[in-house]
Amino acid sequence: MKYVILDCYTDEPSGLGVPPYVGTYPRYIYGKLITEGHNVTYLTIDDMRLLKKYDGQKPIINEKQKTKIDIYNLTKNSPIIKEVLADCDSLIVIMGVHTPGKYLSAIPGTIREVQDYVKDVRCEKILTGPAGSEHGSQLEGGKWSEKPDMKIWDTADPNYFNVSTFNEINKYAPAGAKVLEHINPEHSIMEIETSTGCFRDIGCSYCVEANKPQVFREQEDIHSEVRALYEAGARHFRLGKQTCFYSYKKQNAKEIEKLLKPIADLKPKTLHIDNANPVMVNEEITKIIVKYCTPGNIAAFGVESFDMEVIKKNQLNSTPSATMRAVEIINKYGKERGENGMSKLLPGINILFGLQGETKQTHAENMKYFSEILDKDYFVRRINIRKVVPFEGTPLHERVGNKFLRKNDKYYWKWRNQIRQEVDFEMLKKVAPIGLVLKDCIAEVHDGGITFCRQIGTYPLIVGVKERLDLQKSYDIKITGHMLRSITGEVVKEE
Ligand code: SF4
Repeated sequence: MKYVILDCYTDEPSGLGVPPYVGTYPRYIYGKLITEGHNVTYLTIDDMRLLKKYDGQKPIINEKQKTKIDIYNLTKNSPIIKEVLADCDSLIVIMGVHTPGKYLSAIPGTIREVQDYVKDVRCEKILTGPAGSEHGSQLEGGKWSEKPDMKIWDTADPNYFNVSTFNEINKYAPAGAKVLEHINPEHSIMEIETSTGCFRDIGCSYCVEANKPQVFREQEDIHSEVRALYEAGARHFRLGKQTCFYSYKKQNAKEIEKLLKPIADLKPKTLHIDNANPVMVNEEITKIIVKYCTPGNIAAFGVESFDMEVIKKNQLNSTPSATMRAVEIINKYGKERGENGMSKLLPGINILFGLQGETKQTHAENMKYFSEILDKDYFVRRINIRKVVPFEGTPLHERVGNKFLRKNDKYYWKWRNQIRQEVDFEMLKKVAPIGLVLKDCIAEVHDGGITFCRQIGTYPLIVGVKERLDLQKSYDIKITGHMLRSITGEVVKEE
């Protein structure tokens, strides 16, 4: 059969598939279909937009304009998209945003947008990935999720191809590396899956991963996939598809070393992790992560709130004292700078607005602990603040829905702004001081006379350079100033 995979990108609590990340869904599905002998073409939503929004013609951008990030991530198949769609038996649309973020050089498709593009394509249409689940998809926090219109789709199923158990994944993932033939993977980062589920018996109130039993993927299977991706041209990897990296094989340091060392031996340009549960952070595993991974690495903690009332009401996983201990341990071993200019490993802190029990005191508690972090001179690379999406099927949805989002909406701008001004800004000056050189920053987008660049990795800093640099080239950039969430710099070396 002739299949077309249309990647509209995915962003979930554990697992990112928005460029420059290549997510697991397109790789696994591609691997399964080519293993079964089908003809498969990989397209992105950007290819589709170029065809439908721009009539197949890339608009000419003048020096005062912004890069069009809606058509930034074209595949090599973009020039033949009409023929490919006309000839296809089955269109597999991968999409779904469950943890909406801000993306520098990509815009994930919304269900409504994609439906508009695919409704006239004459073939079987399958919606898969997170958007095919009961939770739907939502690009903006604080809103109800979008649901598919089943008049357009033949099937909506998050797991349509049944590549979800590690038995199946391991069978197809190495072959799935061949999907990279359809893009230029030089600056792409591969999201790698190490486990599913959560170790907690009672999950956090808002979480769509809660209550799934924890299953670990064997090291050899992960290594086979990473090797195949490396051979296909990938040089950047993040072991990010799990709810907590430290929990791997029941928080076993030896097993984690067995996982990381062979990947580090390949000498990838980037080897990072994502997602760590503060209560699982210990010294032994932290030292191993620092030893084998590349600098600029971040263990992002799903703290969500420092307010004990909110923690209790939403069954959150960490207490303020456990979080502070984890911040201290990671700083002890990871704060030292690596060769690309960034600290080797730093904590990240995620905060959620709109949880059950949220009051003005919640913000006061958050500020109290952030101030303590600053006072103790701990580094935190990134504070991510989001409004919760009350997905159907979660306890939050059942108990309070968007009640607290509505109630406190009037404060969110102020709360967020205070964290940005008083914490983020101060932290940025410590983590990336003036004069520091960040190596190997990729020029990604223009905005008038400014080019925004960043290193490849997990939550890299965005650096604005006051000139129009050649996009997709690599530069070493010296930091010259700080803005609220980004930095300014000047090029000291071009690739
Ligand atoms: S710790 Fe909470 S947020 Fe993280 S996976 Fe488990 S239930 Fe979900």
